[in-house]
Amino acid sequence: MRVAVIGAGMAGLGAARTLQKAGVSVVVFEKSRAYGGRVATRRIGDYTFDHGATIISPRGSELERVILEELPQDELVLIEKPIFLHADGRVSPVDPESNTLHRYAYQKGVNTLGKLLAADLDVRLETPVEKLSHDGPHYVVNGESFSHVVVTAPLPQSQVLIETIRDRRQFAGAQYRKCLSVMFGVEAPLDKPYHALLDPNQSQPLTWLSIESIKVPGPARAPEGCTAIVAQMSARYSRYSFERSDEDVISETWFDVKRLLGITSAQPAIKEVKRWKYSHAANTVSFESVNRSGERLLIAGDGIAGARTHQAYLSGVQAAEFLLSE
Ligand SMILES: Cc1cc2nc3c(=O)[nH]c(=O)nc-3n(C[C@H](O)[C@H](O)[C@H](O)COP(=O)(O)OP(=O)(O)OC[C@H]3O[C@@H](n4cnc5c(N)ncnc54)[C@H](O)[C@@H]3O)c2cc1C
Repeated sequence: MRVAVIGAGMAGLGAARTLQKAGVSVVVFEKSRAYGGRVATRRIGDYTFDHGATIISPRGSELERVILEELPQDELVLIEKPIFLHADGRVSPVDPESNTLHRYAYQKGVNTLGKLLAADLDVRLETPVEKLSHDGPHYVVNGESFSHVVVTAPLPQSQVLIETIRDRRQFAGAQYRKCLSVMFGVEAPLDKPYHALLDPNQSQPLTWLSIESIKVPGPARAPEGCTAIVAQMSARYSRYSFERSDEDVISETWFDVKRLLGITSAQPAIKEVKRWKYSHAANTVSFESVNRSGERLLIAGDGIAGARTHQAYLSGVQAAEFLLSE
């Protein structure tokens, strides 16, 4: 068995690690230049922002076991301060459910998790797979021959890819939300009793506000006396504003951020927008409905498993176990 895994996000890395541990030869093809997919980090000047998944809360899952038992922990941060809620411009403690869960980050960015998971794997970064083909019973991926393939891109992208070998599997019902993630670097200190604010009703434009330099204290996220902030906008606002100018999105978001956090500086030193076309899986399709017995090309990822990091990882493990059991 020789397996090509497409995508080095949580699902792809979960699949590749499980297969490699079982003695299978695996190559991971990743189109971007980073490991971790949407568990992503952006460095701008002296500031560091987790602008995809800002925290990892693996809820006692296989991913938590791997983080705590298999991976180095020297850069792991157990987030101490809680999450507070916000509604109609008012901030209130405390979201009991979110705060009973272990929440993790990494000193230099959550994408450290991707790097650590990929450490012993053959991952080809900056290597997009644009088409698949057959060579007898084998698959050909970027000129190499494989007995099996695991595709872990967001489902609309996976569908386009598998259509190149006339694989007609449909992912009807799978939907993803868009998300605008807006990064701010502020040249002033900020101390709060929380590391993030959540709008539990998703009724405000700003859904999730992460103070990166409180989440990870010390100089790793912002220079001394400065503050790094990530604002993630609601599905509705993000859909409506996806094509609007950075300038408009930044100025509206900054207005909300200032008001919620009581910041008085006129303008942030750093301001950048990241547009996630596929941020969270809103509806999923079941693993069994797209991966039938006997398939040698499997589909995994959060579109199968649920919109969270640990669920995506588990879907990769599940795909690998499925191949191993066939
Ligand atoms: C803004 C935002 C906030 C989030 N917040 C949280 C949170 O707080 N907690 C949480 O648990 N989850 C959160 N999530 C969701 C979480 O990040 C995802 O559910 C999870 O990371 C998905 O993993 P995946 O492996 O399924 O997909 P991805 O991470 O998208 O990985 C797929 C990989 O495949 C690569 N790829 C795609 N097509 C190709 C191709 N043709 N060839 C080669 N490579 C390809 C991509 O570059 C990518 O690296 C958030 C996501 C976003 C965007």
